[in-house]
Amino acid sequence: MTSSVAMTLADRLERVLDELRAVCLRAGRGAEDARLVAVSKRKPTEDIRAVLAAGQCDFGENYAQELRDKARELADADAIRWHYIGPLQRNKVKYVVGTATLLHAVDDARLLDALEGRAARADLVQDVLVQVNLAAEPQKAGVSEADLPLLVEHFAQTPHLRLRGLMLMPPYDPDPEAGRPLFRRLARLREDLATSGLENVVPKELSMGMSHDFAVAVEEGATLVRVGTAIFGERPPKTW
Ligand SMILES: *Cc1c(COP(=O)(O)O)cnc(C)c1O
Repeated sequence: MTSSVAMTLADRLERVLDELRAVCLRAGRGAEDARLVAVSKRKPTEDIRAVLAAGQCDFGENYAQELRDKARELADADAIRWHYIGPLQRNKVKYVVGTATLLHAVDDARLLDALEGRAARADLVQDVLVQVNLAAEPQKAGVSEADLPLLVEHFAQTPHLRLRGLMLMPPYDPDPEAGRPLFRRLARLREDLATSGLENVVPKELSMGMSHDFAVAVEEGATLVRVGTAIFGERPPKTW
């Protein structure tokens, strides 16, 4: 890869980080209160290396085998923390448990049981977020708001999993303000969870906000923003 491409990626990263810090401060929060997850799906590992070299450590992937393959290719890069942000099928938990520092999109009890089995066999504790489908979109991953309490109670039966917070992927709308009521609602749900006293439930994180709306999400309390395009540029279309 040429250094001019690396420069561009580093510049874009810098721009996003500058904006992230500025929004945190403007919202009366600490400059580092919201962390950036650089979403590298369908982008080559040399791009990840360039962004890593610029100081970014958290990377997000949303296809299980792609995460496995990239984690292997980048096994020498000790500083990387992988986030698995995509929906997960039970037969693919082996690719992500222990590889990802955090799973962002867990959404049903049978998946929790599969993750628990895998984490127990690997003798580790896996941090997860529950994705909530707040807009009740029929095709969308995520537990409904109505079913959230029951799913959260299920963590009492999964000693090798920790519920670290909630994740939201609002309906796509080019207007960054469109997500605000949902971001606010998710923050409320997290607060309720924080006082629930349930076992294995320590909900500090709110994963919400993408390239076009992360500023609004941070104003509403996001602790993790998932930004792809604004750093890596447009993605090639899916080929599978
Ligand atoms: C791709 C993806 C993102 C990043 O989207 P951009 O618009 O490229 O910033 C964030 N979250 C999830 C779950 C994604 O799949």
